[in-house]
Amino acid sequence: MVCHKCKTNPVMKLTNNNISLCKTCYIKYFEQKIKNTISKYKLVDKGDHLGVACSGGKDSTVVLYMINKIFGHRPDIKITALAIDEGIKGYRSLYLQELKQFCKENKINLKIFSFKDEFGLSLDEILKKNKVKPCSACGVLRRYLLNKKSQELGFTKLVTGHNLDDEAQSVLMNQFRNNPNVSARMGPFIGIIRDKKFIPRIKPLYLVTEKEVKAYSLLKGFVKATEECPYSTDSYRGDIRDMLNEFEWKYPGTKHSIILSFLEILPNLKIKYKDGPRLSYCEKCGEPSSSKSCNTCKAIEELGLKRKI
Ligand code: SF4
Ligand code: ZN
Repeated sequence: MVCHKCKTNPVMKLTNNNISLCKTCYIKYFEQKIKNTISKYKLVDKGDHLGVACSGGKDSTVVLYMINKIFGHRPDIKITALAIDEGIKGYRSLYLQELKQFCKENKINLKIFSFKDEFGLSLDEILKKNKVKPCSACGVLRRYLLNKKSQELGFTKLVTGHNLDDEAQSVLMNQFRNNPNVSARMGPFIGIIRDKKFIPRIKPLYLVTEKEVKAYSLLKGFVKATEECPYSTDSYRGDIRDMLNEFEWKYPGTKHSIILSFLEILPNLKIKYKDGPRLSYCEKCGEPSSSKSCNTCKAIEELGLKRKI
């Protein structure tokens, strides 16, 4: 087997079209795919301040690298990396250490905010005091901080590292749970509701698979840490991921098919659910919420936290 383009040794076989590529051709192919996604879905505009949500893992590091590579030289576009330190001993700190080094080498402005500083306790401490599902507490608090800090830092868009696998899993989860209204709020550019308190989210890795991101990250020498979060448990998403991986292995191209057919019906879903959920604002913190008290305020009360902001 040889590289489809230059006939040298291949390093990667693409599953959607069975083509093999060498290191140089693969890197070119991958980067071009990201550029095409950004221009096709008009993800970035002149004058944008792009906040990149970073965990220090491979997906967000790859998207940060690509955003900086494509727009870093543009005087009209500002880029800031934003990371949340939940306070998970022996895990997040390792990734954040690598992220700090990466941002230093690539001259990218990095802002890190922690649960401990913002809510008074780290996730480890919260879980010692409360019997709750770790990912639910972690997710609510992290989403809140990402949105709040994006507003404070003046981001016009928040860039995330979601890839094609993540999106295909979400599409299936919404199908299986009969949640078409949630699917209507997905896609490479997120948000039906236009509100200055909702920072739009963009996903430049939308059309590349997890395997492709992993290969690119490996070839570029990004992210050495391999630790998994000690609180991660087998979840509904995990079951969907395993099922999809099995299907992809048996029937290559399955994940692409899910996303391509989803993108075809997405404009109709957006029209059908264009009014979105009835939105008001939380009486305590003023953030958007569908009830009197938002999920973050409820969590803060239940978990015995104090909010700094
Ligand atoms: Fe938080 Fe769960 Fe992710 Fe761990 S696996 S970082 S607890 S959401
Ligand atoms: Zn609130």
